[in-house]
Amino acid sequence: IPFIEYIPAADTDYANKRKRTLAQKALEKIKVNLGKTYLPYINGEYVETDKYLDSVNPSRNTELIGKVGQISIEQAEQAMVAAKNAFTAWKNTSVKERAIIIDKAADLMEQQRHELNAWICLEVGKIIPQADAEVTEAIDFCRYYAREMMALDDGYNYDVAGENNRYFYQPKGIAVVISPWNFPFAIATGMTVAALVPGNCTLLKPAANSSIIAAKITEILIEAGIPKGVFQYVPGKGSQVGNYLVEHKDTHVIVFTGSREVGCNIYAQAAQLQPGQKHLKRVIAEMGGKNAIIVDESADLDQAVVGVVQSAFGYTGQKCSACSRVIVAAPIYDIFLKRLVEATKSLNVGATDDPSIQVGPVIDASAKEKILQYITIGKQESQLALEVSVPEGGYYVSPTIFSNVAADATIAQEEIFGPVLAVIKADNFDQALTIANSTDYALTGGLYSRTPSRIDRAYRDFEVGNLYINRTITGAIVDRQPFGGFKLSGVGSKAGGPDYLLQFLDPRVVTENI
Ligand code: GLU
Repeated sequence: IPFIEYIPAADTDYANKRKRTLAQKALEKIKVNLGKTYLPYINGEYVETDKYLDSVNPSRNTELIGKVGQISIEQAEQAMVAAKNAFTAWKNTSVKERAIIIDKAADLMEQQRHELNAWICLEVGKIIPQADAEVTEAIDFCRYYAREMMALDDGYNYDVAGENNRYFYQPKGIAVVISPWNFPFAIATGMTVAALVPGNCTLLKPAANSSIIAAKITEILIEAGIPKGVFQYVPGKGSQVGNYLVEHKDTHVIVFTGSREVGCNIYAQAAQLQPGQKHLKRVIAEMGGKNAIIVDESADLDQAVVGVVQSAFGYTGQKCSACSRVIVAAPIYDIFLKRLVEATKSLNVGATDDPSIQVGPVIDASAKEKILQYITIGKQESQLALEVSVPEGGYYVSPTIFSNVAADATIAQEEIFGPVLAVIKADNFDQALTIANSTDYALTGGLYSRTPSRIDRAYRDFEVGNLYINRTITGAIVDRQPFGGFKLSGVGSKAGGPDYLLQFLDPRVVTENI
């Protein structure tokens, strides 16, 4: 395959009736395939396990999606040994050959798009168009990183008269990928292929709630021709298997997306040198946000209301990029709040395989309980502006809006990871920016304004990894909005951007006197 330039994939156009039919057919097909068992994949084989975990549909929590074999510590060790044994050959496989495998995986994802969308819809409760965007993002990660690695493989040449200086990259070794349930396909694929294409052997431990989607990624990589031992699918308990792999002396890179608590623990654990360990581990951790959108008095309110609603309640607020605070200029505060509440009221909440639904459930019972606790706190510390009744039978939580929220209130400072929005009033733009920057996080942020000087000011002083002006603050696109934050939002460079792969490589220089 000649390596042509990177071309982004396109989302499905559901305005097209034929595409809607394909989506419906795929859902029907998947529904007759529910309840199967998925096994871990170690050293080129699916392996039996002693324990299994049920994965259920959060939209109808009695609906079993499938059973997932949970590896033991012994099997985690076998996976590590297999990865180590496969490393030399994978490292010595040409970048082009590795890139071709990853490109093939992207093609398979494209072919299976509607079925993959259906699995995402049913396993994690995402509406089909958003599942579709995830598949697009996963395809983009594969194609983009494959091409980025081809470019990096050229290295640099610093020759001078009488002396050749060659700068080149080599893979670090073994990568452990710990993927989240909220972007179960896109982020798991992105982190995995970013480790693989530079030549690292990789173990994928998915979040329990999205293990079947990770099994689908596994099937695709196998079909694409990933060699034995190079990639292992290792579902298991984070506190056992996850810890074991993070602490393992042979792990070089840990790539994690998830909660701040787990991310900080991984960072600390990874820093401990284990007996026999001859390197320091690299941790890439993407850990959430408390993202704000500022709406000033010059904003186009039609645009701002829609943008805030989508950013706050898309995927039920369970994106680390989601808007959880909206900071509104005093002169338009009342009118904005009224319109925001009206627009949010019109959202349909329910099971995500119904195409009329805009907001699905939250991921599981403990997530629901935690979010409800925050709603209780919100009722004590501020004013409830909207709460609606929700269907039963799934883990539903009402899209909830609190008004007159103090900038330092609990619900304005802690990441809730659910459909809860705090509306905060600001007396002027300076104060709005100060409030926006007043949390521990720096992931995404937004500004609705038609005042150039304020837009300039936000460029400089709105402290976030990804700032969006006059648009929604979620849905970053590979090679267009490379994604990631700083402060306690995480450590590492941006996914889907030019620095990401460097984290999986060690640069070397060879000088030859001639
Ligand atoms: N990249 C996603 C976005 O821009 C968010 C990823 C996450 O929630 O971890 O919306």
